[in-house]
Amino acid sequence: MTIERIPARLSGATSHGSLLDLIRGTGGMSRQQLLASTGMSRATLYERIETLLRRNLIYEAESMEATGGRRSRKIRFDDRGRVVLAFALGQTHATVAVSDTNGVLLRSRTVEHRINAPEGAVLQPLIRIGTELLNAGTAETLVGTGVSVPAPVEAGTGTVVHPTTIPDWRPEAVTSAMTAAWHVPVVVENDARAAALGECNDDHETTVYVKVATGIGCGIVVNGSILRGAHGAAGDIGHIHVASDGPVCRCGRRGCLATFSSGSSLLDQLRGDGLNSLDDIAVAASAGRTDVEALLLSGADVLGGALAATVTTINPDRLVIGGRIGTIPLFAGQVRERVLRDVVERISNGLTVTAGMPGDAAAVDGLTRLVIRKVYSAEAIDSLLTDYVQNTQPGGRGTAAS
Ligand SMILES: [Zn+2]
Repeated sequence: MTIERIPARLSGATSHGSLLDLIRGTGGMSRQQLLASTGMSRATLYERIETLLRRNLIYEAESMEATGGRRSRKIRFDDRGRVVLAFALGQTHATVAVSDTNGVLLRSRTVEHRINAPEGAVLQPLIRIGTELLNAGTAETLVGTGVSVPAPVEAGTGTVVHPTTIPDWRPEAVTSAMTAAWHVPVVVENDARAAALGECNDDHETTVYVKVATGIGCGIVVNGSILRGAHGAAGDIGHIHVASDGPVCRCGRRGCLATFSSGSSLLDQLRGDGLNSLDDIAVAASAGRTDVEALLLSGADVLGGALAATVTTINPDRLVIGGRIGTIPLFAGQVRERVLRDVVERISNGLTVTAGMPGDAAAVDGLTRLVIRKVYSAEAIDSLLTDYVQNTQPGGRGTAAS
């Protein structure tokens, strides 16, 4: 008989949620293996397995090798047909995507929109696309939705706070629209933070992600957790003051980083030359237009100088430059060169600086991970099943719906 290695931190697991964590993390175990690795009493373990089975959180899979004449069945996390719906909203584009619980992308569609339109005009068409994408699947169960927006988000409540990009939206616009459309848990996150998590190769990585598109956003993940700061503004680098005599910024101040390095500032300088979108800039750069290249190089250089301080403070494994402008090879390359030149060796040693995934792939991946954490974390399962157990006890408030 083969016994898989059990992570030490999970041995001694006792609650329903930590038991599910163990089953998910190992890819499935038999009852005997669970008894041995958790040290739980048989009665308690079997009761918890029963409850998880009744809630369709686990299932009994194929027989494992016979032990002592009995065949034991493997208990697995029930991810069959479970899907997450993600909405990655940018200022000019949005991607709607269906992924499985392992983050594998199943179906997606990207459309153009204007984020500064009224909330209903932005969200309702995307919800219709989400419905169509879900209807295109067979035997799928939606477990949660995730939405990223180019605005500050209060993560605990999913409300959008102090947004300059969508000033007319109600703070709860996104959560209430999603909850009205689907009665499943909702995660709302800032776009750069979602993408930062999506760019991480594993749950323990430390990554600084900078999105350079219309504006500049930054998401920081430390050991797998999104860094928010005391007041939720960690990584808000777009309006760092970089030059006292710089141009006036949209925020009203002079010389912000965004006035040198954001897509909108580059467009402002290139519009007279027939370039009207970030895509136009990317195409002109790849065609080798020297005036565009020069602007990109100087914008990237200023950004790299500003990021040297962030990278030195966080000491990440990876610095990822994403977004329509950030992923232009010339731009990402110049940011890399400037950062590596400006930081000390202890920081640059082992630091990888790369361009991000194309399009909204990173934000979609990060949102999917956040939804899975929200729905299946040990704490979420324990609180779900506490209600469930209370309601199904004799004298309880009746049987909970499954
Ligand atoms: Zn500013």
